[in-house]
Amino acid sequence: MSMPSVVFVLDKELDKEMAWRFYRRRRHGGVDFWKKGAARHHEALTKLPRQKSKRRFIEQYVSALYGEHSHEFKKRVLAIEDMFRSRTTTFFRATESIFGGYPWPKGRYKVYGSIFDFGPRFLAEKSFQVFLYDRDEIVLWSIYHEMLHFIFYDYCLVRHPDIFQGRDTESGSFWKLAELFNAVILQTRPFATLFGTPAGVGYPEIAKYYAHARRIWRGNLDNWIENMDAVIKRDVAIQD
Ligand SMILES: [Zn+2]
Repeated sequence: MSMPSVVFVLDKELDKEMAWRFYRRRRHGGVDFWKKGAARHHEALTKLPRQKSKRRFIEQYVSALYGEHSHEFKKRVLAIEDMFRSRTTTFFRATESIFGGYPWPKGRYKVYGSIFDFGPRFLAEKSFQVFLYDRDEIVLWSIYHEMLHFIFYDYCLVRHPDIFQGRDTESGSFWKLAELFNAVILQTRPFATLFGTPAGVGYPEIAKYYAHARRIWRGNLDNWIENMDAVIKRDVAIQD
């Protein structure tokens, strides 16, 4: 079975950078990430709009928090890693069966524990952030969700270059397809048994496709990709 190596780390500089990025560009896929990922969990940051030097304020806040709780954050990252490792075979076996043995894109996958609930993913670096203080099953769900993106985008580009080459992976129809794939797959067995309650569709922008995406899933990945992509593209064309 193909299983990539996954490491779990903390990176406060990345947290600072992401907080600044999501403050300046709050909305993605119909979700206000600043509100959901920062303001809701960090009361001090609700004062940010009144600060003169906003970026500095964020940086100092993050540094202070890490200074105070670094031991606790490290412990939580280790706990998350244990949780992931104890279910890892089920996850990789299930993924292997859906992708018909297609290999994981090469690299060292990196999970950053974060004090924010933004959950950005860096496709080229094979890394992503998860929110340290989500409920365990949500943290796990986020890890599976992001891991699936890496193999899904790669599979689409390699197996269907005629359809996907040159298309944006961060927004638009290809992005919608990847999110829908996850929404459908993570609610099938055995994925759903890995984290208890299914977490739902996620982004409002893709909610309207969900019922259809689920209906046409018959276990044949290529058919699903081709059919679903055509539906989303047609719709995007109509909206334009
Ligand atoms: Zn996603």
